[in-house]
Amino acid sequence: MLKVGITGGIGSGKTTVCQIFSQLGIPIFNADQAVKDLYANHSGLKIQLQSAFGSEVYTPTNQINIPFLKGLLLSPEKTEKLNKIVHPLVFQAFYDWADQQNAPYVVKEAAILFESGANKTVDSTIGVIAPEEIRIQRVKQRDNRSLEEIQSIISKQLSNDELREKCDYIIENDGSQSLIEQVRELHAQLLHESAHFRS
Ligand code: ATP
Repeated sequence: MLKVGITGGIGSGKTTVCQIFSQLGIPIFNADQAVKDLYANHSGLKIQLQSAFGSEVYTPTNQINIPFLKGLLLSPEKTEKLNKIVHPLVFQAFYDWADQQNAPYVVKEAAILFESGANKTVDSTIGVIAPEEIRIQRVKQRDNRSLEEIQSIISKQLSNDELREKCDYIIENDGSQSLIEQVRELHAQLLHESAHFRS
């Protein structure tokens, strides 16, 4: 089955675009949610994380320890070690999920599609692009995040120019073109692609 990845910077509109694909009947896999589910339910992951980072990585009530995790992410080496454990499990969860879907194609939503190597788990990629100022405004309205926090996240993500270069398809979400129309057009192209797809 054809697998499509959707990515974009914070506040670009990935989730909004995925909601439109979902309304068109396309199953959506959310990579961020999958990570949370793995932390909560995958006993093998818990064992691996505790052996790599110590028992504190889970709380005494068996929840992932978010402040501890945030501390780990301050270190590039520890982040890499964490990613090497978690990302392959997310890839596998995606393949297992995709195998169970009955649709012409499936979509994976991932903020760090290229950075995590998840682009290799999909056949086509879509970048959702909006100017930085618009994204900042939208995220400020949506979340209780400071401007500094939003800018710091943006600085660690791929730029719009990099996404334009890397992605097979681009959706412009700057308010100048209808999002629904762009997704409808892309859906028609992906249906065509899926009809000719051999995995
Ligand atoms: P994140 O990476 O932070 O999860 P995202 O890329 O998934 O963000 P969304 O959550 O889809 O982005 O959109 C960010 C905010 O902007 C949401 O509140 C959404 O409702 C709003 N938004 C998205 N697209 C538009 C649009 N075209 N016009 C107005 N508001 C929009």
